[in-house]
Amino acid sequence: MLQLDIPEVTVAEAAAAVTLRMRRQPHSNRIEARTSDMKAAEVLYLAAGRDGTLHDLSRQLPATGSDGEYLEFAYDGGLVTSKAGRDIYDQILAGAPYERCPLCGRGIATTLDHQLPKSEYPILAITPANLVPACNKCNQRKSSKDPADETETLLHPYFDSLGTSQWLEARIHEDSPARAEYFVRPGGDWSATFTDRVVRHFTFFGLRRQYALAAAGKLATDRIQHSGLLKRAGPDELRLHLQEAAAGYWSTAGNTWEGALCNALADSQWYVNGGMNEI
Ligand SMILES: [Zn+2]
Repeated sequence: MLQLDIPEVTVAEAAAAVTLRMRRQPHSNRIEARTSDMKAAEVLYLAAGRDGTLHDLSRQLPATGSDGEYLEFAYDGGLVTSKAGRDIYDQILAGAPYERCPLCGRGIATTLDHQLPKSEYPILAITPANLVPACNKCNQRKSSKDPADETETLLHPYFDSLGTSQWLEARIHEDSPARAEYFVRPGGDWSATFTDRVVRHFTFFGLRRQYALAAAGKLATDRIQHSGLLKRAGPDELRLHLQEAAAGYWSTAGNTWEGALCNALADSQWYVNGGMNEI
């Protein structure tokens, strides 16, 4: 749910790196032989990503034939494990702002996820634009299923823009303890299809529950500080503090569960007037 810049490194550079000291000669030879096809596939991938037609890409890609296992090996036996390949892997991974997983916006990005699965698209196994930093949880949750149509296509952090307005919102339930419920508020310029995709992404990665659990922990942790600030300075100062905290989260990563929580707390008359003491 966070937008990242497309990696600057190309598939040609990735292929050169993974074959540099590859001991398995047949693999190395086949990867080198297919590098021009990988370059052609990269051009098609970038165009389809920008056009929002990645779900239609498989028909346009060069056929893999019997080279699938070699191309997949370029990832597992090259990009992940070889020295030169790992440098490129780490370079792509470093695209995640503050190591935050762009898919959930919560976990630490420690792996690369194939946006289009390498088992279905071996020609894209080491295409940098198809490799997205992700936390382990999101990476495992992603299936190797090919998206059938546009609404089935999960958000792509390199190509899908969620705009610059707040679309992730939280609602505070005035319970004891207080809890936060998260939801997507569609941006004004979102199409119905794009809205469906965002909601699907939100559901697919279990973000409603993940964010609510994380918020419960943060509410418990911040309670004493907020209670003290309310006692010392009053509800207006507490509201200002929460708004400034939300702005801080916004400045680092845009829409985040923490920022949405701070905004919701600032908007809650119940909370800023002492609701935290009921936790
Ligand atoms: Zn994640």
